[in-house]
Amino acid sequence: MHNLVMIGPQGSGKGTQSELLSLKLNIPQVTLGTLFRAEIGRKSDLGLEAQGYMDRGELVPGEVGSKIMLERLSKPDAMNGAILDGFPRTLDQADSLENISKTLSRPLTDVIYLRVSDDEAIRRLSGRRVCTNTGCEQNYHLQYNPPHKSPDHCDKCGSPIAQRTDDTPDAITKRLAIYHQETVPLIELYRGQGLLREVDGEKPIGEVQTQILTAMGV
Ligand code: AMP
Repeated sequence: MHNLVMIGPQGSGKGTQSELLSLKLNIPQVTLGTLFRAEIGRKSDLGLEAQGYMDRGELVPGEVGSKIMLERLSKPDAMNGAILDGFPRTLDQADSLENISKTLSRPLTDVIYLRVSDDEAIRRLSGRRVCTNTGCEQNYHLQYNPPHKSPDHCDKCGSPIAQRTDDTPDAITKRLAIYHQETVPLIELYRGQGLLREVDGEKPIGEVQTQILTAMGV
């Protein structure tokens, strides 16, 4: 069974690589940011509370993310493993994930660390465009990976694509600072547990995927 965590700065390709892994390993990609955005789309209390933090590029505080993750990982399609994209992002959340793993009797098997410089992350995020359909959220890049059928519509579902509200220069700078402060300590934590698989995230998409599968021994 593969219970994976993806770690890397915003723009490191966690979403893209998770999607490819999900197809290869036949286990779901679970992206906490997407689950939050779905709550915003539903205008739920949780969504309304999360939106301000997300627009400013700040982490949504408290236990709410852990609760959403436990609920999602308890669904039948995640029983044979999952790829966690965007959770945990802090040491407290790593503790919560350990509790979730114990509750569900599903220990982590690999933590994939996508190593990407801040400069490259900023380049990627500034040109990123995302499908506005929250059920799709296909990612594009104006320069490296534009849609083929129409310049401003999603190839997969035809919905308009747009810049994410948190891909503005201010929010990007803040998110990267939070990544260095809150998330980077997880790298040493998981290295110490023998779970870290470190790959060069600046290589082309297919090459990064091959590196990941090799590091996992798949
Ligand atoms: P992402 O789509 O992964 O870039 O996440 C978008 C936003 O969702 C983040 O900037 C946070 O506001 C929120 N978010 C995602 N993951 C977490 C997390 N693990 N803890 C708290 N907030 C999160």
